[in-house]
Amino acid sequence: MGRLEGKAVLVTGAGSGIGAACVRRLIGEGALIAAVDLRQDAVDDVLAEFNIGDRAFSATLDVADREQVGAFFAAAQQRFGRLHGLINCAGIRGVGSVLDVETEGWQQVMAVNVDGTVNMCQAFARLAIEDVYEGEKASRSIVNISSGAGLMGVPNRLSYVASKFAVSGITRTMCAELGKYKIRVNAVAPGMTRTPFTDYMFQDPENVRRIRAAHPIGREADPDEIAAAIVFLLCDDASFITGAVIPVDGGSTACIPSH
Ligand code: NAD
Repeated sequence: MGRLEGKAVLVTGAGSGIGAACVRRLIGEGALIAAVDLRQDAVDDVLAEFNIGDRAFSATLDVADREQVGAFFAAAQQRFGRLHGLINCAGIRGVGSVLDVETEGWQQVMAVNVDGTVNMCQAFARLAIEDVYEGEKASRSIVNISSGAGLMGVPNRLSYVASKFAVSGITRTMCAELGKYKIRVNAVAPGMTRTPFTDYMFQDPENVRRIRAAHPIGREADPDEIAAAIVFLLCDDASFITGAVIPVDGGSTACIPSH
C-alpha cells in the first residue's frame, strides 16, 4: 500500500526535472495524478513509462493564466472528486542584476514563479475549504518550490531570487490562513539539482567543481532526492508540519564553504 493510495494530487511543471520526478514517486505511492505543464507531450512521455490506466491524466496548462487554471481545477475535481494535494513545480529562471534587469524579463519570472504559484494555491484552497469534514486532521497539503535563492541572495539573479523569496513568504502566509481549514502549506528549497533547468551550468568542469564545493555533501542533487522530500510533505507522516520552508540542499545554505 502506498502512502497516498487513492488520493488525488496535482503537479505543475510535471514534464521535466523535479516535477517529473514527483510524478514518478506519486505513482509509486498509489496516488491519482493530474499532471500539467506548458508541454503536455513531455508529461505524456513521463506517464507512458508506467501502466497506470486512468489513475492519471495530463493537460497543457500555463500556470500564469488564471482562466486556464480555473478550467483545469474544474476538470480535476470532476475527474477525481476530493483533491488531496498540490505540488507547484513550474518555474523559470531569471538572469540579470539590479543594474540591468528589464521590465519584460522581470515580469515573466514573476508571472510564472509568483503569480503561477498563487493562482494554483488559490484555486486549490477555494475548493478544499468547501469540503472540510468534522474531526479531520490536517491532511490536505500544498508544497511549493522555493530555492536556496529563496533563502540567500545570489548575484545576477535578481528576479529569480525575488520570486523565490516571495514563494517562501506566500507559503508562510498561507499556512497562517489555511490551517483552520486543515490545509498544510510548506515549501522545499532545493540546492543545485541536475535537470534541464540547470544543465547549462554543468558544461564547464570548473563550474561543476565550484557547484560541488558549495555543497558540503560534495555533489549536486538528483531530482528524485528533491521529490522524496516533496512527497513526504504530502503524506500523513508530515501531519504536523506546516509553514516550513525546508532546505533540501546538501547543506549548501547551512554554512559558508571552507577556503
Ligand atoms: P525544469 O526546467 O526541468 O522543469 C520546469 C518545468 O516547468 C518545465 O517542464 C516547464 O515546461 C514547466 N513550466 C515552465 N513555465 C511554465 C508555466 N508557465 N506553466 C506550466 N509549466 C511551466 O526545472 P526544475 O529544475 O525541475 O525546476 C522545478 C522547480 O524547482 C522550479 O520552480 C525551479 O525554480 C525550482 N528549483 C530548481 C533547482 C534546480 O537546481 N534544478 C534549484 C532550486 C529550485
